[in-house]
Amino acid sequence: MTFLQPFAISSQFSPATSPTTGSTTGLTIGLTTGPTTGEEMTLSTLWFICDGSNLVVTGDCPTFPQAKTLESLGIAAVRTQFLGYLNGQPCVAAALSPAASLQGPFGLSHLRGLYGQVNEDLFAIAARAVQIVDWDRTHQYCGQCATPTIQLPTERAKRCPNCKLRQYPRLAPAVIMLISKGEEILLARAPRFRDGMYSVLAGFVEPGESLEETVTREVREEVSIEIQNIRYFGSQPWPFPNSLMVGFTAEYASGILTPEPSEIEDVAWFTKDNLPPVPGKLSIARKLIDWFIERQ
Ligand SMILES: [Zn+2]
Repeated sequence: MTFLQPFAISSQFSPATSPTTGSTTGLTIGLTTGPTTGEEMTLSTLWFICDGSNLVVTGDCPTFPQAKTLESLGIAAVRTQFLGYLNGQPCVAAALSPAASLQGPFGLSHLRGLYGQVNEDLFAIAARAVQIVDWDRTHQYCGQCATPTIQLPTERAKRCPNCKLRQYPRLAPAVIMLISKGEEILLARAPRFRDGMYSVLAGFVEPGESLEETVTREVREEVSIEIQNIRYFGSQPWPFPNSLMVGFTAEYASGILTPEPSEIEDVAWFTKDNLPPVPGKLSIARKLIDWFIERQ
C-alpha cells in the first residue's frame, strides 16, 4: 500500500558518509562531519536553533535563520551539531542558550506548529534537529560514571574518556494500530485528548517484544479484545521527543470492548459516516484513519 509519511525525506534523499561524497542537490543527511568553524560555514548555512521542541524562526511565513555564524545573528546558543546539507546548504542544529533573549525578527515556534508552514524537507530537518539537540543536551555526562563525555568526530555518538561507554541517540519505538471490524473502526479517547477527539490505539514497545506482540498486548490491555491479521502499514518519526511510530492494521477477532479506565475514557466502533473529531494530518494516526475511510 502507498503511504506518504508526513515528514518523510524527499526522493532526493541520498545518504552519504562524508560531506565530500554527498549530493549537491536535495537533502543529504545523517552526516556527522561538516564545517566545524565559522570560517568553513557559508552565508547560506541554515540554523535549526532549538529550545526544547521550539525552534527559532523568522517571519510570518516562517523560515529558519541563515547566516555564516550564530554570532552574526545575535542569537546566543550553546552546543552545535552538524546535520547535513540541503541543496548544498550546510544545516546545523544548536541549543538556544537558557539566558538568550530573542530580539528583532526572531521568535520561537513549536515544531508541531511548523507542520504545513515550511516545506517537507525543512520540517524533516527541524524534527531531526529537535531530537539530536535533546540527545546532545541529555548526554553531556557519562550515565555510568558521570565523567563529562566527548563527542566523537566521525559518528553521532558520545564517548566517556574514563570508562569508554559510548552513547548513541536512542529512539523509543511505539506501535499505533487501526483495528477494523467490517465497515467499522475502533477509536478510543484518552483523558489527555482535546475535547471530543478520538484516535486509534497506540503504545510503547517493551524490551523483549516484537512489534506485533506489542500490538496484541496493547489492544488486550487497553480494551480487552483479541485481534488477528496484523499487517505493517508504515512508520513515522515522532520527535516528541524521541519516538518512532510504527503503524499497523489489524482486524477484530473476539472479546467484549472493555476500556482500561486509567488509560481509556471511552472506546467505540465508528463507521465513516459517524466519525468523531480525529487527530490532525501531521500524525500517522490520521493517515491510518484516512486510509481506511478511502477504502470504504
Ligand atoms: Zn564513564
